[in-house]
Amino acid sequence: MDFDRSQLYIDGEFVASHGNDRIELVEAATEKPLGVSASAHDRDIDSAVAAARAAFPSWSRTSANDRADVLSRFAAALRSRSRETSALVSRENGMPITLSNTANGRTPAALVDYYAKLIRDQDVEEARPHKNGHTIVRREPRGVVAAIAAWNYPQALAIMKIAPALAAGCTVVFKASPETALDAFVFADAAQEAALPDGVLNIVPGGREAGAYLVAHPGVDKVAFTGSTAAGRAIGEVCGRLLRPVSLELGGKSAAIVLDDVDIDAMAGNLYGASFINNGQTCHLSSRILAPSTRYEEVVGAVSALASSLKVGNPLDTSTMIGPMVSAAHRDRVLGYIERGISDGARLTAGGGAPADHPVGFFVQPTVFADVRNDAVIAQEEIFGPVLSIIKYDSVDDAVRIANDSDFGLGGTVWSTDEDRATDIARRVETGTIGINDYTLDLGSPFGGVKASGIGRELGPEGLTGYQHLKSIYRVGPAS
Ligand code: NAD
Repeated sequence: MDFDRSQLYIDGEFVASHGNDRIELVEAATEKPLGVSASAHDRDIDSAVAAARAAFPSWSRTSANDRADVLSRFAAALRSRSRETSALVSRENGMPITLSNTANGRTPAALVDYYAKLIRDQDVEEARPHKNGHTIVRREPRGVVAAIAAWNYPQALAIMKIAPALAAGCTVVFKASPETALDAFVFADAAQEAALPDGVLNIVPGGREAGAYLVAHPGVDKVAFTGSTAAGRAIGEVCGRLLRPVSLELGGKSAAIVLDDVDIDAMAGNLYGASFINNGQTCHLSSRILAPSTRYEEVVGAVSALASSLKVGNPLDTSTMIGPMVSAAHRDRVLGYIERGISDGARLTAGGGAPADHPVGFFVQPTVFADVRNDAVIAQEEIFGPVLSIIKYDSVDDAVRIANDSDFGLGGTVWSTDEDRATDIARRVETGTIGINDYTLDLGSPFGGVKASGIGRELGPEGLTGYQHLKSIYRVGPAS
């Protein structure tokens, strides 16, 4: 066992849990014990929320420039740990290290710097003319934020909440996923090194019961959640009853619309990033490939060849393209969907099970099914593994209809040699984000979903507004 994080981080200190539960983590590629983490008990959550409440008045009144200075120190402390953090996450959840170096290594510090700069540059008050004088429109921090994230991009998903929340002047209780509890403590280490005021950021990994307790806690003012649609619905119901602001970043089943003028080689070069990245454990992936009937077999051949060429292996090896699933249970779930695709009559053109040459670790072969109907289970449900479905269409209208015939609306791609034509089609897809001939997240632009993929947006300036509420102060005199 390499990591011992058996204390929670509450009110600026590492403290023992009130309960006896521990989270034991296993390395996804080797199935060997990786470390142990404390698991938050209800009374620990009470302490964390109380610490965040006590810290809020002072932190929220700290000037934007002073908050930005603290955040810049926090970013530097995260940056100095980025190499170890990326490797740790790869061992926890199987993410290939080349991706982890960005998503868990560089992104957290970059986002903290981004929001520090944004609050230095932005005025929190704006004067507007009013018939009796003028109105001051003021952005105020919402208060104590309960942040909850999934395990698939643990550092990025956490910092997409923590950075704008702290920048806005909110204080945070972060409940990390049990699968990635260890890396969550990097935020605690960095907070201590950067001398974040006590209680401004609290780290309490735990299971879904801890999450549910935190969401409904009377001391919480706003919930920021990333995870499954099922959990998002449950959290949304609680927040609705409490009239508590909530943002929900949920599941996806996005479509790649391949147009008849596609450059197949160029597409094959970028499809790994759009459809397979992070072993398929990514919410926005284009996991339904919509191919024109005129070039159908050509697309099936290229996508299947790509899948078969991806190197499966230990995520710490820089040549690995597909690492293991996060856990045995998740691997079995993904394999269950592959069996369902076969029994439903889809044509298997690549992969199809667990790789025989990796008997240890939670591996699944990159898998492609052709001749899939859009109403099939494997085309409608989120598999969250390296499994693609290729669906035939006859006209562009048909392709757009199929793309939109989904409960979800998070990502997607359009592939064509004509970017303007592809962009026009992208405008017709019901989704929160969509890429043309590629899919690369832009940290400066809003990210989020429509329909069952969620409510609210993270990233960009819009990612800050979710942590602020607006107050209008009506004055009788003219603006000075
Ligand atoms: P999950 O919903 O099971 O768990 C996510 C987190 O929520 C965990 O920390 C868990 O402990 C907690 N949780 C679960 N039920 C809860 C409840 N009722 N109340 C409070 N907390 C609760 O999801 P997962 O399996 O960990 O993650 C995979 C899912 O996350 C996929 O559906 C994926 O698409 C989604 N995801 C979405 C985005 C996005 O930005 N839209 C990004 C990454 C992952």
